Amino acid sequence: MTNTEHTGCHGIDIGGSKIELVSFAIDGAELREVFRERVATPGHDFSAFVQAVAGLVERADAALGGAAPVGIGLPGVADSRTGRQLSSNVPALNGRLVAPALEQALERPVVSGNDCQCFALSEAQGGAADGVPTMFGAILGTGAGGGYCAGGLLLRGFNGVAGEWGHWSVPGHLLAQYRLPSIPCPCGREGCFERYVSGPGMRMLHRHFGGDGLEPMEIAARANAGDSLAALTLGAHLDLLAHALSGLVLAIDPHAIVLGGGLSQLPHLYQELPAAVRRHLFSGAQVPPILPPRFGDAGGARGAALLARQQLNATAP
Ligand SMILES: [Zn+2]
Repeated sequence: MTNTEHTGCHGIDIGGSKIELVSFAIDGAELREVFRERVATPGHDFSAFVQAVAGLVERADAALGGAAPVGIGLPGVADSRTGRQLSSNVPALNGRLVAPALEQALERPVVSGNDCQCFALSEAQGGAADGVPTMFGAILGTGAGGGYCAGGLLLRGFNGVAGEWGHWSVPGHLLAQYRLPSIPCPCGREGCFERYVSGPGMRMLHRHFGGDGLEPMEIAARANAGDSLAALTLGAHLDLLAHALSGLVLAIDPHAIVLGGGLSQLPHLYQELPAAVRRHLFSGAQVPPILPPRFGDAGGARGAALLARQQLNATAP
């Protein structure tokens, strides 16, 4: 850790099919993009993965005019005790110490966060919640995760899992209200919100109510067209999601919530969530603005670069 302001930083977003690197030159508070490249993810070969990242960084260094710190957004979570990557959609990374291996190959510090934390940081700095004192970025995609930022900095917490709202349990009274089973979750627990409010969760709800396995956009379109089964699904999804977000308001009371992931494209969430969240709060508590993302999934590499800059400036816990 140093207090030296670097003149540039690289951010790398690791996806199941693509690795994207974006480089920024830093001029005071301004970030200027100078390089961007994507390569296919070597999904099953860790040494090929490290080589692919090293090749990207070598070309990015050349574009930036020198070696810059690297931030990396990883899918899944890392074990907080061992640092080994868990439950990733890139099999080559499972059980690996990803950042240390890259630090050795790249001969420089590498800071890692999960993809949801990188999304939140990108939306907190220059994104939909730019300039807001505190914000929560809530991803609703294939999973449900997020990140919490204060003063434009990501707060990671004791375990580094601050923002993992998708693994809170749905309360029994809500499961009973919709006659829902308590579904096992890959995290090892069951009944986690992620199983019900993510994209696959919404499809599960629709099947549960007697529909077929439609995509969320199709369910929403059918509800708009008067399909009562689709409306039932959307209503239950909204209620469950609103309960989870009310918990966020009570726990950390963010000044804004920015939605991300595929479900952030559903317009009814921005129209109906505020009133739905309020129904789960005590009287007098206000719901913060619930906003669409500025960068969305495209902000992953950008957020990783911001994470590198944040960590190397050592200004946040
Ligand atoms: Zn879970």
